[in-house]
Amino acid sequence: MRVGIDIGGMTIKAGLVDDRYQIVDKKTIKTNSETESAEQIIQRMAALIKELLKENHVEEEKCESVGIACPGTVDPAQGTVVYSNNIRWENVPILAWLKEQLDIPMYLANDADAAALGETLGGAAKGRKNAILLTLGTGVGGGVIMDGRIFLGPLRGGCEPGHMVIERNGRLCSCGRRGCLEMYASASALMKSAREKAEKYPGSQMNILSGNKPEAIDGRIIFEAEKQKDEAAVQVVSEYEKDLATGIANLINIFRPEVVILGGGVSAQKNYLTDQLQKLVVKECFGGELGEIPPIVTSELGNDAGMIGAAFLD
Ligand SMILES: [Zn+2]
Repeated sequence: MRVGIDIGGMTIKAGLVDDRYQIVDKKTIKTNSETESAEQIIQRMAALIKELLKENHVEEEKCESVGIACPGTVDPAQGTVVYSNNIRWENVPILAWLKEQLDIPMYLANDADAAALGETLGGAAKGRKNAILLTLGTGVGGGVIMDGRIFLGPLRGGCEPGHMVIERNGRLCSCGRRGCLEMYASASALMKSAREKAEKYPGSQMNILSGNKPEAIDGRIIFEAEKQKDEAAVQVVSEYEKDLATGIANLINIFRPEVVILGGGVSAQKNYLTDQLQKLVVKECFGGELGEIPPIVTSELGNDAGMIGAAFLD
């Protein structure tokens, strides 16, 4: 048995994972990084792990590993969260602090990296050793799996596919550059452009479906309107798909993985989105149809991917 921890902005999830990559039991606690120090949160995390093991009658020495998936920049070798905007942590030696409470081998990874590993172990890329995951949510996270392991390279910082530039002098990104994939392919970017477009097209289905509340226009409404051939929505989705396809094709040209996995809210569109992307990507990949184009699939593990991957970081 192993434990995988997924640290989010407001919750910490702990999963007890078996050797077949199945979550046997799961516990969640709420956290508030504005009122709690990192040390307090980690203290509660250790208690959560102990509770999960105890309730499932797993002795500490029988637990093979504890893995932590954390958003932001982490240093897996040092076991330190270097900087995480979501939880406002800076230089937190998380593994050292946890080891004071628990005598179990421990590992740390970026959350998107852990999710990518999880999908190759027990999800959409099961059995594949080379895969890329892009999570299309508030931002665009990403993880690269090469030869069955998270590709990190020897230097701190890791891979951030969401911050590759697809439009030089494009939209200003939170990372300081302009034109990052994240500014075009995240769920937030999709909603932003849909709301702007809906304002210009008052008769758009997007306005009708949202009850004329721009803030209620979400991914589901955008794709629903697009399926009804609403002109504004068709334009928004078409631009979105082209931008995302450019990012995916760039990654294929660099890594040529066996599979590209899409996670996050937008991936709920499943084949409707991936079939279209697959057509667009062929045209942009080096060698076109002469090269082998990996299938683009959607996540199978969803929010559990990070926990499952984290449990197998050893
Ligand atoms: Zn960026």
